[in-house]
Amino acid sequence: MRNLNAELTRLKQQGLYRQRRILDSATGIYAHADGREVISFCSNDYLGLANHPDVVKAMQTGTDHWGVGSGASHLVNGHTAAHHALEEELAAFTGRPRTLLFSTGYMANLGVIAALCGRGDYVFEDRLNHASLLDGGLLSQARLQRYAHGDSAALETQLARRDSGEKLVVTDGVFSMDGDIAPLPELAAAAKDHNAWLMVDDAHGFGVLGATGGGTVAHFGLGMDEVPILIGTLGKAFGSFGAFVAGAEELIEFLIQKARPYIYTTALPPAVAEATRASLKLLQTENWRRDKLQRLIQRFRSGAAELGLTLMDSYTPIQPLLIGDNDRAVALSQALLKQGILIGAIRPPTVPEGSARLRITFSAAHREVDVDQLLTVLEMAA
Ligand SMILES: *Cc1c(COP(=O)(O)O)cnc(C)c1O
Repeated sequence: MRNLNAELTRLKQQGLYRQRRILDSATGIYAHADGREVISFCSNDYLGLANHPDVVKAMQTGTDHWGVGSGASHLVNGHTAAHHALEEELAAFTGRPRTLLFSTGYMANLGVIAALCGRGDYVFEDRLNHASLLDGGLLSQARLQRYAHGDSAALETQLARRDSGEKLVVTDGVFSMDGDIAPLPELAAAAKDHNAWLMVDDAHGFGVLGATGGGTVAHFGLGMDEVPILIGTLGKAFGSFGAFVAGAEELIEFLIQKARPYIYTTALPPAVAEATRASLKLLQTENWRRDKLQRLIQRFRSGAAELGLTLMDSYTPIQPLLIGDNDRAVALSQALLKQGILIGAIRPPTVPEGSARLRITFSAAHREVDVDQLLTVLEMAA
């Protein structure tokens, strides 16, 4: 039997041991963590909607009407009018014929990749794709080929070598640990040239990019021809929970038949769908949230540059500070916490070896003084 204690000790020695912090306040910028008041810079609630009164109210009204649990999977008896209305509203939002709700983004990614590809097929993935996309590739049993980060020429070369089987190109829209944006027009052209599908997981783009929050595809002005499979998660800028796939009628019908993580799991609580419908309205209409976010990002980047901190090439709310060494990243995160700033240290295997970092994220709920406070503390600690 495996010696679990020895393995845990080794993780500690390598600076890779992970521990959960206990939060005892609602999701938000001002949090109570590990017994102290902190300003949080590590949530994915980019627009500040997770605790918005309209969204909270919609969930309360939803539970009054629907109860708590959905009671069954979508195909058995769990697909309510609340889920269905949300799917239709997400279809209108993404400008695609249909969408399909999944219980989490992780499951959507496993479900789509493994439904579309199998033995004898090829899945091409950016090296820095989210773990759930890589796991989807592995689960599918297709040959998984990883291409250099954001490198459409490298992808093109790999695609050209394969002339049999299904080919599926998979990328994050906004890379979750780096904050940069995938070169979707070039990836779409490469995929089209080689008769491959393109699947974009825009967990961090929806709500943040595009004039009305349409995400990375809206940012580049791409439609379903270029990006036939579009994934969104609802736990980030939507401030809620769950995920969706958007695409053609036949894609969605096929997934309903074949995607096992769709079929064999309980449907989201309907009240969560109601809350998400409320957040979708705010996300599309309250442009000031996106504008404010951009102002905060600019303020941070110019302040950090003045301090001589090394920023990454990101113009999204994900603004990592590259540290390198695991222990140093953790020590820095702990030093910041003592000064009331909550930022997580991200270590391998979430990021490549030697690239541990502080992953700073901004939210429209932050104030300019919060950014200034962050810069002051970084200047002292770094
Ligand atoms: C968070 C995330 C997911 C997982 O979504 P969940 O709904 O949290 O399971 C998938 N892909 C990317 C790129 C993510 O950042």
